[in-house]
Amino acid sequence: MSEIIFEAKEEGGKMSDKDRIAELEEALSGMLFQFAYDSNNGKVPTLHSGGLSALGIAFTAMRWTDPYPIPESKCQTKGCPKRISCGISTPDGYKQLCGNCYGKESNKQEEK
Ligand SMILES: [Zn+2]
Repeated sequence: MSEIIFEAKEEGGKMSDKDRIAELEEALSGMLFQFAYDSNNGKVPTLHSGGLSALGIAFTAMRWTDPYPIPESKCQTKGCPKRISCGISTPDGYKQLCGNCYGKESNKQEEK
C-alpha cells in the first residue's frame, strides 16, 4: 500500500508546472460544475457563485464570469434554457433534458 502512495508522489514530482495547472483547473472546473448554483439567462444555463466567497474565488481563479454560461449543458427541448439533468430515449432518439422536460417526456411516453 505504501509503495502505491510513494509511486504516486514520484509521478507528481515529475509533472511539469503546466500539467499541474491543467490538473488543478480540471479539478476546480469539476467542483464548480458540481457545487456552483444553477440558473439561466433565458437562453442558456449558467453557473453562479450565489455570493459565496469560496465559489467567487474559484470563479475568479478560473477566469470565469459570474454568472458563467454553459451552453454545452443546455436542455435539448427547443426553447428551454435549463441545464441538463438526465436523459431519455424518445421516438426522435436519445435526448438529454432538464428535470421538467424529462417529466413531460416521461408522462407523454406513459400515455401511449
Ligand atoms: Zn428543459
